[in-house]
Amino acid sequence: MNKIISLCKRRGFIFPGSEIYGGLSNSWDFGPLGVEMKNNIKSAWWKFFVYDKQNIVGIDSAIIINPKVWEASGHKDGFSDPLIECRECHCRFRADHLVGDDVWNQEKDFFDTASEQDREKRIVDLIEKCPHCGRKKTMTAPRNFNLMLKTYLGPIEDKNDLVYLRPETAQGIFINFKNIVTTSRQTVPFGIAQIGKAFRNEITPGNYIFRTREFEQMEIEYFIKPPKQDSDWECVFEEWRKLMLNWIEYLEIDLSKIKELNVPKEDLAHYSKKTIDFEYSFPFGVKELYGLAYRTDFDLKNHETFSQKNLKYRDPITGEEYWPHVIEPTFGLDRTLLAVLAECYKEENIPGGEKRVVMSFPKWLAPIKVAVLPLLKNNEEIITKSLEIYNNLKGSLSCEYDESGTIGRRYRRQDEIGTPFAITIDFESLENDDVTVRDRDTMKQERVKIANLKEYLKYD
Ligand SMILES: [Zn+2]
Repeated sequence: MNKIISLCKRRGFIFPGSEIYGGLSNSWDFGPLGVEMKNNIKSAWWKFFVYDKQNIVGIDSAIIINPKVWEASGHKDGFSDPLIECRECHCRFRADHLVGDDVWNQEKDFFDTASEQDREKRIVDLIEKCPHCGRKKTMTAPRNFNLMLKTYLGPIEDKNDLVYLRPETAQGIFINFKNIVTTSRQTVPFGIAQIGKAFRNEITPGNYIFRTREFEQMEIEYFIKPPKQDSDWECVFEEWRKLMLNWIEYLEIDLSKIKELNVPKEDLAHYSKKTIDFEYSFPFGVKELYGLAYRTDFDLKNHETFSQKNLKYRDPITGEEYWPHVIEPTFGLDRTLLAVLAECYKEENIPGGEKRVVMSFPKWLAPIKVAVLPLLKNNEEIITKSLEIYNNLKGSLSCEYDESGTIGRRYRRQDEIGTPFAITIDFESLENDDVTVRDRDTMKQERVKIANLKEYLKYD
C-alpha cells in the first residue's frame, strides 16, 4: 500500500489534500493522471449502465437539498454511529468497531435503553484500555453521532437555515421520480442513474482513499412493479448481481479477489430487505467495494407521506397505481480507482538484471495511452518529426511527449504510469517514415508506418 501511495504522489495520480497547510485529515486531491482515470471510469460506467441499456436515464441532482428529504429518508434520525471518547487523550472511536460487530449486535438493545451511567460501566468492561494511549478505563458512554455534514444557507446561522450535504446520491433520484416519469416516457421497469459527490462525517476515515468524508458515488435506482412474491424481485436482483460482476470483469479485476457477502439481517440499513456487498481483497484487508440493495418501496412511500404529494406511478396501460419497488446497485468511484491501482501494481524483473514497476491498467483505463519519445533531443529532424506525430495523435488519444533522459529511463517512467504504447522516433524513421511502437506488457517493439499509427493504436 505504501508503495502505491508513494507512486501516486510522485507521478501525479493522488496528492495529500491541503498539503502546503499541513494537510487536512483524510482529504485527497486527484492530480493530472488521477483525474484522467476517474473520468475514464465514469464515462465507461455511464456507457456500460446507461447507453448500453434501453431503460436507464441519467440525472444530476443538487448536493444541498431540502432538509425534509433527510427526515423522510430516515437519515436525520437513523444515520448515526456509536461514538466513544477516551477521557485522557480525547481520541474518538466507533464502539462497534472496537468491540466487534458480533458483540455490538448483542449489546445494541442495552445501549439503546440503559442509563448513561450503566452504559459507561458496560463500555469500560468491554473496552479495557484505550487503543491510542493505552490508559485503562477511560472510555465514555457511546452516544449516537449523526454522520451528515451540516452547513447553513444564507447569512444567519439559525437552525431554520440548517442544511446538510447529501450523505448519498439516491435521494436526489427519488425526489425527481415524478419529473422523470412525466418527461422521459420511461415505463416501469426502468432505472435512473447518477454520478456525484456525497459526504459523510466519518468518525474514523482512513485507508487512503478507501474511506473519506468526501467521496464520489455511481448509483442506479431501478424501479420495478411491487412484487407479488419474493421471486418477482429476486430475479431482478439476480440480473443486477450478474451485471455488477460483468462490470468488475470489465475493469479486469480478478474475480477470485471478490467476495460476495450477504449482509446479515441485523446489519442491514434501515431501508433494505436484502443487501449484497461485493468485497475486494485490498492490500489492507477484505473490504466493501460495491453494494446491491433491495430498498423496497421505502423511499417513495415516505416521500409521499412527508411531502404530501402523490408519488405513485400510474401504469399507462392498466391504469393501476402503485409505488414502484427499488433495486439499487451502488459503486464507489474512489474505491474503484483504489481497487484498480492495487490490482495493476506490479514489480517485475526484466532482462539485463533490471527491475521495473509497471501499472498494467486495461488500455481503456490508462490515463495516458501513448508516449511519443524522440530518440535524441539534440537532432532537429528527429524532434520535428516527433512533434508532428505528437500533434497528429493528441487530438484523438491522451498523449505525452517526453524528450528528457535515456530511452530506457523514459520507458520506465511510462511503465510506472501504465502507458500501453510508447512510440520512438529514430534515424530510420527519417528515411522510412516508420517508428517503433513498444508494448507496455510484453515490452516487444514493432516497426509501424507513421501513416498506419492511428489504426495500430486502436483499442477497445
Ligand atoms: Zn486514550
